Order: sequence, then C-alpha cells, then structure tokens
Amino acid sequence: MRTIRTEDITKAVKKMCIDANLYLADDMKNALYRACDNEESVLGKKILGQLKENLEIAGNESIPICQDTGMAIVFVKLGQDVHIEGGSFNEAINEGVRQGYTEGYLRKSVVNDPVIRKNTGDNTPAIIHIEIVDGDKLEITLAPKGFGSENMSRVFMLKPADGIDGIKNAVLTAVKDAGPNACPPIVVGVGIGGDFEKSALLAKKALTNELNSVHSYWNDVQSVTGSSKDVVPDSSYLTKLQNDLYNDINNLDIGPGGMGGKFTCLGVNIEVYPTHIAGMPLSVNMCCHVNRHAKCVL
Ligand code: SF4
Repeated sequence: MRTIRTEDITKAVKKMCIDANLYLADDMKNALYRACDNEESVLGKKILGQLKENLEIAGNESIPICQDTGMAIVFVKLGQDVHIEGGSFNEAINEGVRQGYTEGYLRKSVVNDPVIRKNTGDNTPAIIHIEIVDGDKLEITLAPKGFGSENMSRVFMLKPADGIDGIKNAVLTAVKDAGPNACPPIVVGVGIGGDFEKSALLAKKALTNELNSVHSYWNDVQSVTGSSKDVVPDSSYLTKLQNDLYNDINNLDIGPGGMGGKFTCLGVNIEVYPTHIAGMPLSVNMCCHVNRHAKCVL
C-alpha cells in the first residue's frame, strides 16, 4: 500500500489548471502550426496565423490562451494499492481547482445551479471521473473545457445495422450542425459503444488522448478469461475510420473560424467500448483549437 497525501494532489491539480490554460500540448501546437502552413484559403490562413500568434503571446506573457478558461474536467486513475491520507480526495481536487483558478487569474465560469445560475466564484466544483485501476500510482488528467464547443456535443443512439456509414453520417451531421460555433479548427472526440452515458464519457476522454489516435477497451485488457480468445476484435478498422472522418470533416469547407478553408478539424480521436447486441451508441464531443489538457502521475 502506498500513501499519497491530499496536499500533493491539490498542488498538482493547481499547477495543471494553470499550465493547461497557458500552454497547449506539443501535438496540438504542431497540428495548429501545420494547418497554418498548409491552409489554402487566404482568410483561413490569416485566422490560423492569428491563432498561432495568440498562442505564442499566451505562453510568453503567461496569460490564458482563451478568455473561456473552461470548467475543470478531471479524469482520475486511482491505483487500488494507493491510500489517500490527509482529508477528502474530492475536496483535494476541488481545492487545487480553487487555488489554480484564483491564483492563476483564470476566469471563473461555474454557476451553482443550472437554473439559479449564481457564480460559485472559484470555478468549483470540478467534474471528477474516477476509475480504479491496478497498481500504486495516481494518474490525474485535467482538461479545462470551454462551452462554446461543449454546447455542440451530440449523442446518437444508432442501430447496429447503421454500421460504419451510420457512424460517419452521425459525426459529420454533428460537425456540420456546429458550423462556426465550436471555434474551428476543432478536435473531434468520438465515443462509440457502451451505453448512453458511457459513449459520452468516451468521447470526452478521447479529446485528452494523443491527437489523431484510436483506442479500444481491448487495448487495456491483459488477458481474456471465461471465453475464447476470438472474442477480442480486430480493431484495425478504427484507423481507417479515423482517417476517413478526418478527411471528410476537412472537406466540409467550414474552415478556420467558420470562414471556409481546408482545416475544419485538426484531429479526430476515437474511443470504443463493447456494447449491447441491440444498439450502437455514439457520442461526439468537440473541442475548439484550444484543446487543453495536462496530465500528472503521483
Ligand atoms: S470554444 Fe474554445 S476558443 Fe471558443 S471561446 Fe470556448 S474555449 Fe475559447
């Protein structure tokens, strides 16, 4: 059993809130720079140039990349051999968010109730997803999520017979309907399988993965027990799906800022999970070009 103290969790979360809002991960930065070099639309290229300049100013002057510094989404992988000491685990995370958003002068965007709508004043509570895993480590991924893009998210309860074409149509419908509202160029998180809420969680989690990656539940399964090995699917179709979606989305001509151009999206990330014989839930969670996330392992 390994002990991790809550004050270390708070410290780590505080730092991640500030870092994620000031700097983009290299994969996102490189994708934005590449788009800037390769955009053919004159207006699109100008917009991407401004986004690049904005990113550089944010890093150099320690100011947030966007005024919407988001709601703090926290994915936790808690090793089952970890003992948390020093107080409440959830409160340790919320205290980190409180300190990060206050001391980092980040906009407080959380209201106390969806109808009453009084600002909580410190960007808490965070949305915390906890997964218990093997081992004695604590992995925390923090993703500040802006709501311009969040509001464009969709859930589609597809039928199994809809197949790959149904998946593509659903994703393209979501992106077309979002138009300029998700602040393109966007990153498109696609969650397929599970049930209604699991697919949404997969789509959100997909946004925190390496850009243009695919991930299946079966990647994490150490050994298959209780059934034959051929239950493990050949997931190679996912790479083609990811590629096709990337190209199809970029052929929509929504473009940077919604002004037309080659780069409507910078990446498509897919997560899949086993599902029920009668359904194929699919969720799309979009993020703008400010696809922020930071990770730490304690
Ligand atoms: S969607 Fe992204 S770029 Fe647009 S306002 Fe929100 S955080 Fe900023």
